[in-house]
Amino acid sequence: MNCKIWYLLSWGMMLLGCALLIASYYALLNWGIKAAGLALFLAGAVLNSAKCRCPACRQRVSSWAALRSNQCPHCGSSLN
Ligand SMILES: [Zn+2]
Repeated sequence: MNCKIWYLLSWGMMLLGCALLIASYYALLNWGIKAAGLALFLAGAVLNSAKCRCPACRQRVSSWAALRSNQCPHCGSSLN
């Protein structure tokens, strides 16, 4: 799968998790929603570190480097 899709998915999950945490804090929602927000955030973070690697050299590629260009900053091969 395209690396950029994983970046967007993992960042989306982390942002949604943060939004749930903040919303549950201010709206005094129950612990289930807080736990869901935390789980979503952690799942996004895990997904980001697990999937956002160069397919050729398996080095971790930062989100911004991958979104700016389609090349791995370590070995120069295509990330698509
Ligand atoms: Zn590489």
